[in-house]
Amino acid sequence: MNTPVAAAATTGHLPPDVLLDYWLHDSDEATTERVDAHLMECDACGHALDELVALGEGIRSAFRAGVVSTVVPAPFVQHLAAQGLRLREYRVPPGGSVNCTVAPDDDVLVSRMEVPLAGVQRLDAVLEISTEPGVRHELHDLPFDSRAGEVLHLYRMAQMKRLPDHTARLTLLAVEPDGRRELGRYTFHHRAWPGG
Ligand SMILES: [Zn+2]
Repeated sequence: MNTPVAAAATTGHLPPDVLLDYWLHDSDEATTERVDAHLMECDACGHALDELVALGEGIRSAFRAGVVSTVVPAPFVQHLAAQGLRLREYRVPPGGSVNCTVAPDDDVLVSRMEVPLAGVQRLDAVLEISTEPGVRHELHDLPFDSRAGEVLHLYRMAQMKRLPDHTARLTLLAVEPDGRRELGRYTFHHRAWPGG
């Protein structure tokens, strides 16, 4: 197969899923050492990592703060798809809900939340997950394209594959001079992959 993944395997460069895990600090110790060693001597893979860093500013810090998912800029997701990563996508209208899962060989899980963004200056979100009752993850100053009419929500794969069945609720909020205005609420009923 002439996919980027297969090409990476034959050229000895780092596959994009390995690089993404490394960047998110989800790699095990042996893999991290192997990637570090490769990056020391490979400009091509160093450049690929730089692209992730440039496009994904803010994503890693959100994940580090303990959330399993966050809003990401569209070019970041386009970049992952162009690299040959296997994306599973769900589309959710405002006020809508979706039954979602993640397959063992999925690399990236993304939901596309439809939302009216005209006139929005700044976007915040609140994330609530049924596995953490009473906890509200506040996400501030999220990336969005006001013409797109959608916001992309990326899940941290290493954690998603370990999570039990749960329900997540994300509320998108426009930040305005006199307070925050709710733009839409989105519900994700997550079920673990059967037998996975
Ligand atoms: Zn390389």
